[in-house]
Amino acid sequence: MRRITVFGSTGSIGVNTLDLIARRPGEFAVVALTGGRNVDLLASQARAHRAEIAVTAHDDCLPALRAALHGSGIEAAAGPAALIEAALRPADWIMSAIVGAAGLAPGFAALSQGTTLALANKESLVTAGPLLMAEAARHGARILPVDSEHSAVFQALVGEDIAAVERIIITASGGAFRDWPLERLAHATVAEASTHPNWAMGQRITIDSASMFNKALEVIETREFFGIAPERIEVLVHPESLVHALVGFTDGALMAHLGAPDMRHAIGYALNWPERAELPVARLDLAQIGQLTFRAPDEDRFPALRLARAVMATGGLSGAVFNAAKEAALDGFIAGRIGFLEMARLVEGVLSDMSSRQGLGNAAISLDNVLGADAEARRLTADRIAQGRI
Ligand code: NAD
Ligand code: MG
Repeated sequence: MRRITVFGSTGSIGVNTLDLIARRPGEFAVVALTGGRNVDLLASQARAHRAEIAVTAHDDCLPALRAALHGSGIEAAAGPAALIEAALRPADWIMSAIVGAAGLAPGFAALSQGTTLALANKESLVTAGPLLMAEAARHGARILPVDSEHSAVFQALVGEDIAAVERIIITASGGAFRDWPLERLAHATVAEASTHPNWAMGQRITIDSASMFNKALEVIETREFFGIAPERIEVLVHPESLVHALVGFTDGALMAHLGAPDMRHAIGYALNWPERAELPVARLDLAQIGQLTFRAPDEDRFPALRLARAVMATGGLSGAVFNAAKEAALDGFIAGRIGFLEMARLVEGVLSDMSSRQGLGNAAISLDNVLGADAEARRLTADRIAQGRI
């Protein structure tokens, strides 16, 4: 039996992961499941999968979690230290699917087991990529990508030499506002930004898709995961979301990965790696689909992509600042305090505040200084929102 832990089991990726596991009874033993405030779902998942322990991120949710698990024999725990403790419980395969930089510390701790970390939490690579990769190497752990584009690249690279890769192209649906003019974007509402044309995902990543901050994070994730130079990474808008990524080789060949927009494919690939196993995802009928379309991204309407390039050029702690400012700006947008286009303006402002103050690019990366830069960027973003300095 493979021992499995799922961080963020109550979210979109977590639910899809448990769906795959439930289809193969007797193959997996669930060690730990973790969630946030949705303790009823967390407890019912823990009961259904006979987990050893369920952990909520919030101390004040512990009594409710305990009550919901009463009589089950399943342990209940809460808070950041309990998340780390869960990451250290022996497991063969650990899914990192907490949303945001909150996923970094548990994922980092899990690597010390020297087993497999399936990484959906792209924020940990954006904020601390070199640190995570070094920690994995130190313990002989393997990080497998779960983001659909990165799983697609990973699959296209099987049997290939990374030195023969000329470019990596990740596709973007263009999100909810793909065809909206700039003037209209200024007035986009949270509800409008929270619907994705092709993918069903958590609210935060869905809004990040509409602003293309998600793609900006993914460009940096590509750089960190595959160690490829920033100028070799391209973004291509592909409204159908059927081609997930393409790898271009030195001989001019392009290897594309196609599949239905269903995260169970990328999750299942990581679960079954290095083998393939049957997955409950729709098969593409290309004759029926008929046409696939592509176009260049518009960086005037979606400045997040331009900011990602600047972050990669600066390096160091700028990824942590970029991500944290983005998360705080997103909080501001969801709370109705700032407009849709103001998110990118805020992030750019905070990056420039912090670059002049700290020499962001030169700082060595440690978990402590990543979390410090993250906290400061959130504070500066919140200050700017409070002062109307956007
Ligand atoms: P979600 O919002 O649906 O779920 C997030 C999970 O994290 C929930 O279990 C929630 O309880 C937990 N969580 C939230 N805040 C937390 C905190 N502060 N501490 C601990 N736990 C917390 O998110 P999602 O869409 O499943 O995305 C999860 C991760 O996977 C993100 O990093 C996202 O970028 C990435 N990802 C998601 C998709 C997708 O299809 N949903 C695709 C690619 C990558
Ligand atoms: Mg993706």
